[in-house]
Amino acid sequence: MSIRGKIFLLLAAVIIISSITGCLGETPANIDWATPVGTVAAGNGNGIQETLDIYTSALVEKDRDKFASVLDTDNPAFVTQELQRFDRLIDVPFNQYYLGLISQSETAPGTVAVKVNTAYTLQGSFPELPDLERTAYLLVKRGDTWKLAGDADELVLGKKRDARFEDFGKIEVLNGDRVIVMYQASQRGVAEQVLRMTETSLPRLEEVIPGDPLPKVPVKVYPGKEEINQTFPGKWQEWTGGASRQLGEKAEQGGEIIVDSQVFNQTDGSNPGYNRQMLAHELTHIALFPLTGNRTPPFLIEGLADYVAGIEDASLLKDQLRRGGSISPTLRNIYQPGGFSILLTTEAASLAYEEADTAVALLEQKYGHEKVLALLREFHRRENDKQDQDTLVDEVFRSVLGISWSEFENEWLLYVTGG
Ligand SMILES: [Zn+2]
Repeated sequence: MSIRGKIFLLLAAVIIISSITGCLGETPANIDWATPVGTVAAGNGNGIQETLDIYTSALVEKDRDKFASVLDTDNPAFVTQELQRFDRLIDVPFNQYYLGLISQSETAPGTVAVKVNTAYTLQGSFPELPDLERTAYLLVKRGDTWKLAGDADELVLGKKRDARFEDFGKIEVLNGDRVIVMYQASQRGVAEQVLRMTETSLPRLEEVIPGDPLPKVPVKVYPGKEEINQTFPGKWQEWTGGASRQLGEKAEQGGEIIVDSQVFNQTDGSNPGYNRQMLAHELTHIALFPLTGNRTPPFLIEGLADYVAGIEDASLLKDQLRRGGSISPTLRNIYQPGGFSILLTTEAASLAYEEADTAVALLEQKYGHEKVLALLREFHRRENDKQDQDTLVDEVFRSVLGISWSEFENEWLLYVTGG
């Protein structure tokens, strides 16, 4: 595997970390502005959630008339925008669409601004709603019912709404047996390859990480970096190809894969085979999310993802060790939580992946799948233990493999330099 390929995976790891630690990014313009639900003036609170429920159920049921029935016809620009959004989402197989009222405030007689939480699930995919995102709307009272009359993110939350996938065009869907690939028509070629490559890697994944099969994994094929940055502003600056994104802490919330089709096409020409490995790597991360705690050594995770992807070359590492030089990072550096996210140079990143890959290959060959899975389970089980990481790693290796960390490290050095 080339150094360039390694960098892709490194950045993918960084992206995962930033998406886990990311917050809603909400900066209220006026923190005292919102009125908690239930404390608004009599007459305003009634019926707003019902309007939101009609809006979301229409999206699930693909009922355009029902959807239009809750839009305020006095605001034609908003109606046009929302109907376009409906049409762009028409093929997306929503299972559940949630829009829940958090708070509301009257901005004029008969007009309220509301803060809402929103999320959706897809049919056949992970069953639990992802972590909720916050957004805001204006509603106006028409007769007895409330109608949606505008977006209110800037007014309520102090920031424009981040782009959503449908903002880049109608969403097309390739609904495979094991993945749901979403894309815009101009990315059809990439989407077809992504579907094939992702599904091809599943048998190997399930052999290495047995358990209940993953639900269908959502994959979003973005036109390019620009659109990805608009959707996840400030989080994924160094976008390079593909990444997995955890959708919540619970296993049932799962994750999704994001693909940059521009980079995908370039890579296809320059490094054939890499895209399949990248997708297998990211898919492994999604399968591993529920097995990963915040004390799990990152080298185990990255090494397993590469093990499933079939990345084996460790020439840089062998070279450096055989020349007797010291290596940076060391294997100990990358059992520290966050150990992969602080690698700043190409060489450090390549070395780190080669160390992770060879450590996992040794574990798999000498101790077997079951022990690797037992290591994951034990680190997960002990994620809230108080001792420092060095002690914890040593204790877990002793309890699961019957050897100290130092002994494992020596075995690994021999394995790399002898192999
Ligand atoms: Zn990774």
